[in-house]
Amino acid sequence: MNAAQINVVNLQFIAVVLAAILTVAWRNFARPQHAAVWACAYGVAFFAWLTNFVMLTYFPGNVYFFTGISILTCTSNALIAIGYMQRAGQPKAWVRIYSALMVAAIGIAIFGFGLPHRGLRDATWLCFSGAMLAISAANVTRSIRTATTPERATVVMLVLFAALDFVSAGMALRQGAAGQGGGLAAFRLTLILLYPPAFVGVGLATVFLVAADLAERMRSLAVSDLLTGIFNRRGFEEAAERAIRNAQRQRQPLALVVTDIDRFKAVNDRFGHNAGDRAIKHFAIRMERMVRRGDLVGRVGGEEFALLLINTNASDALDVVERIRRDVAAMPVAGPEGISLTASFGITGLRPGDTSLASMFARADRALYRSKVEGRDRVTCAEVMEEAGGGAKALTAGEAI
Ligand code: GH3
Ligand code: MG
Ligand code: MG
Repeated sequence: MNAAQINVVNLQFIAVVLAAILTVAWRNFARPQHAAVWACAYGVAFFAWLTNFVMLTYFPGNVYFFTGISILTCTSNALIAIGYMQRAGQPKAWVRIYSALMVAAIGIAIFGFGLPHRGLRDATWLCFSGAMLAISAANVTRSIRTATTPERATVVMLVLFAALDFVSAGMALRQGAAGQGGGLAAFRLTLILLYPPAFVGVGLATVFLVAADLAERMRSLAVSDLLTGIFNRRGFEEAAERAIRNAQRQRQPLALVVTDIDRFKAVNDRFGHNAGDRAIKHFAIRMERMVRRGDLVGRVGGEEFALLLINTNASDALDVVERIRRDVAAMPVAGPEGISLTASFGITGLRPGDTSLASMFARADRALYRSKVEGRDRVTCAEVMEEAGGGAKALTAGEAI
């Protein structure tokens, strides 16, 4: 076997391994559709390298083989791009990429048979492959959230290898129409030296991203509440501790609100546990809609919730929470039962001595307790309560300002 044959045999093995890893990832990591598409991409790549080996061994220089291999390689790269677009939630990924693939295939066929030109034929499949990797890179961080480190690493790999494809396309053009002389030798050398690491690199980046996505999913599951989709207690506490540290460092205000639905046992008793669950979800959604984007909302107990209002002092928080209280009381839970809810709230602001959530939580809880004792469906601010000497009368929003 010569160097080229050994090269393509190696690449066959690598393609099979990548297809197998991605299939396992697809089957075991919650079956994301894009992982299955990527597994197919490496399945197609395996056939491309197998065909390449057959050509090198039995039909050297056969134009039909060349054309077929080029189109298979383009298909494999097109599937990679489709997977990245699907992961980004892009509709019409198949239609768009398939159309582009058809154009590239026609180009390759024309430069293969119609107007034979080896330089242009090879440059076409390399440019198409480079474009597919560039599209993949553009789709990695398409969503609104900021990119994670694995996502950034994947983008770097994809951009690097897209650039490599374009450089190889330039080398391909230098071999001219007939594919002879120094140009051909240089192009072959580029392919043998650079294509395998690019192929492996893109494969590893892709597998790495599937694993990183899974890790991210597990992390987000661990900190979210299944019923409502907002933070669970652990998630809220972790995020709140970070926000408190930031606020203390930057000397910005912060307000913690704790709330508990009133007489919820009666809701369960009267309408059943499922209706109770729906009521909890309804309450969480209404609250989440009424706070700002960066504020934290968590379900810290059965029908107990906490809000951390960023860059908001206790007195402004009182206004926000009073609006939430009125909204909750006015809006019945969707469903045949027409359940109406009220809730009690306790608020406290960040103080210079607050280094963790615990001290704030204790104050807000005392204020909440006061709201309950004073008759429920009301808001109590710890600061106002303390100013009034913790007097017997609850200070509701209206009275406090
Ligand atoms: P209060 O006004 O004093 O808060 O009265 P309450 O009846 O709401 O009392 P409490 O807050 O102690 O009771 C909470 C009840 O919420 C007890 C439990 O049956 C119910 N609960 C807790 N978690 C869930 C849940 O996930 N789903 C449903 N349906 N009910 C829950
Ligand atoms: Mg409770
Ligand atoms: Mg309650």
